[in-house]
Amino acid sequence: MTADSTRSADGEWQSTRAKNLCYRGPRLVTGADIVRISRTLALEPWHFTQAAPAAANDPTGVVLDNARRRVNVRLANAAHGCVFHVVTLEGTGRCGLGELAPLSCRMFPAVPGRADRDGTTEADRDGVPEGEEKAAGGTNAVQDPVGDEGEGEGGDGSALGPPGRPLDAEGLARAERRWAADRDQWFEIVAHWNALAEKTDDPLGVEDFQRYLLEAHAACEAGAPWPEEVVA
Ligand code: SF4
Repeated sequence: MTADSTRSADGEWQSTRAKNLCYRGPRLVTGADIVRISRTLALEPWHFTQAAPAAANDPTGVVLDNARRRVNVRLANAAHGCVFHVVTLEGTGRCGLGELAPLSCRMFPAVPGRADRDGTTEADRDGVPEGEEKAAGGTNAVQDPVGDEGEGEGGDGSALGPPGRPLDAEGLARAERRWAADRDQWFEIVAHWNALAEKTDDPLGVEDFQRYLLEAHAACEAGAPWPEEVVA
């Protein structure tokens, strides 16, 4: 395969991903994806996320407003799809996040949490609620998902492979492991938040949750207690 044909194949993959994913917006985004993007772009999460109604049994459903609302927090959609979707002057779609993109986007066309990594397309996810791929066996605590990957695995996804092309088998396997750890941590943080939100008299909103998400990740990385366990 020549360099030109590789470039052409990569461009085709990016266009296919844009068509099948970016124009609609990513699914299966985790809190770790949101935190990574927020920190690297120095943007608070509420500038690039949006809330959508969550199903009652969705483990990523965030309780808000004195338990009157339950929502999913996901990357925002704009007129051209995902808020990070760039349409080039030639009219082709590209991801503006590069290696910062959510792991589920980096894995396209594979779907995280599915065994059939090679042929499953984003279109296959229609009707699958966020978090449905939760592994059997519950939500075990995940103290440091980054550390689980061992040396050489950067928290920014740089060790998975070049961002403008499909991941190879090794990168895909790493992404799958990392995504599973991130998903478990996401479930755990949402569960902690929901327990708090259901107890408080304050009408906590989605920005409060996203501040808690940032604090919980910082506490986890520092080996500190959950934010609500810190006594002033
Ligand atoms: S984050 Fe990037 S790859 Fe994922 S949907 Fe948005 S533009 Fe597409």
